[in-house]
Amino acid sequence: MRFRYSTAKNGKPIKKAVVYTAEEHGISFSDVDGDAVRIVERLKESGFDTYIVGGAVRDLILGKKPKDFDIVSEASPARIKRIFRNSRVIGNRFRLVHVYAGNKIFEVCTFRSLKEGHTGNSFGTIEEDVLRRDFTVNSLFYDPRQQLVVDFVGGMKDIWKKRIRPVIPLETIFTDDPVRMIRAVKYGAATGFKLPLSLRWRIRRDSSLLAQVSPSRLTEEIVKIIHSAQAARIVEKLDALGLFRYLQPNASKLLAENPRFRERYLRDFAAAADLGGEGSGTGEKKPGWAMSSLIRAFLEDTTDFSLSDSQENYYAAFLSVRRFVLPMNPPRLELDHAVRLIFAEHGITVKRARFPIRSRPSGGEGDRARGEQASARSSGPAAAPPSCPVSAGPAAEREDPVQAPKKRRRRRRRKTPVPEGRPQPGETQGTGAEQKI
Ligand code: ATP
Ligand code: MG
Repeated sequence: MRFRYSTAKNGKPIKKAVVYTAEEHGISFSDVDGDAVRIVERLKESGFDTYIVGGAVRDLILGKKPKDFDIVSEASPARIKRIFRNSRVIGNRFRLVHVYAGNKIFEVCTFRSLKEGHTGNSFGTIEEDVLRRDFTVNSLFYDPRQQLVVDFVGGMKDIWKKRIRPVIPLETIFTDDPVRMIRAVKYGAATGFKLPLSLRWRIRRDSSLLAQVSPSRLTEEIVKIIHSAQAARIVEKLDALGLFRYLQPNASKLLAENPRFRERYLRDFAAAADLGGEGSGTGEKKPGWAMSSLIRAFLEDTTDFSLSDSQENYYAAFLSVRRFVLPMNPPRLELDHAVRLIFAEHGITVKRARFPIRSRPSGGEGDRARGEQASARSSGPAAAPPSCPVSAGPAAEREDPVQAPKKRRRRRRRKTPVPEGRPQPGETQGTGAEQKI
């Protein structure tokens, strides 16, 4: 164990961070994504302090396969963009860079400052950036070249002690961004770590703040949860702490009222995770597998699969599940796959819905569009929300990151066409050959 020091005004050294060696943190370098390493290396060679950060470091220490590798750097978005040919700056207010490598997208953020408290978007130092991250277990920086983990907030000890401890003060952590409540419960359930009583108490007290969060952000969260191998456990915990009602109010009501629905609903999440959840290791992932766990119990309770006009029956089912999953606005295609998957399980093959289907669930068109994009973006393993310590504000003041690709796509079309082989905006899966970063 080493220490990183800075100098106080009086000239005395102050301990800033604990630095753990490979032996101490236990990350096996071979588990670190080679493209992520190359991106970090390239930025370092250009003179910018850069690390792998967030969930990837947490998961590597826990011996789990990270679903994405987020990178944070001293370099500004404009510099990062110049350094990587295959990259794109996204976001207007909250700018970060997507660097493309083959079919993968890496989010490269610039250190955020504390100048405007925990919510501003100006750039800062690593010491400031770390204090804007939500939980200590998400605040470790990994330097792949030296294979060191830099820990400013005691995240490594918290991993060893198996606890989720906030970095941001309890007074503001959830008022600044209520989605952090969902994140806290998710990490607790996924890792088996404990949430301290003070944190659980705050969550219970502040849970109603989630009512102000935009459907697009809630959609982002639920999509990530249903793709997780621990979906059943996460949903159960969210429900127990009174948060699930903001993500899926209709299902939450049934969970409380109907024990049989509860049992099947939770079982479906567990089964879906076995089928295709992260880390499940199973091969086949049928289209709609994740979404189907959100709707199967409801659909089976409300649909008469023996009706003769199965196509008509399917349209009605599609519309009713769209209302059932509100305020979530999943991409139509994904929901369509899920409904047809369940019909197929009952031996009924139906044709895909011809869009547009007129009747819409309540909720503004803007929210719909955002929700669909958010969900589309988050639905693949390479896609993730901005991996920076951002603060969304209760009413989604955070710029909706998923809006940016749309705007950029329009601009891009006017200027130069996207070269072949480069991932299209929003694309998460590609077939093109690996590109050099
Ligand atoms: P996972 O991707 O498994 O959900 P993650 O920790 O990587 O977990 P991301 O949403 O990818 O989560 O974000 C990456 C990092 O950015 C987090 O680990 C955290 O440090 C920071 N972060 C993300 N969202 C927030 C937020 N709302 N508030 C504070 N920090 C955040
Ligand atoms: Mg991540």
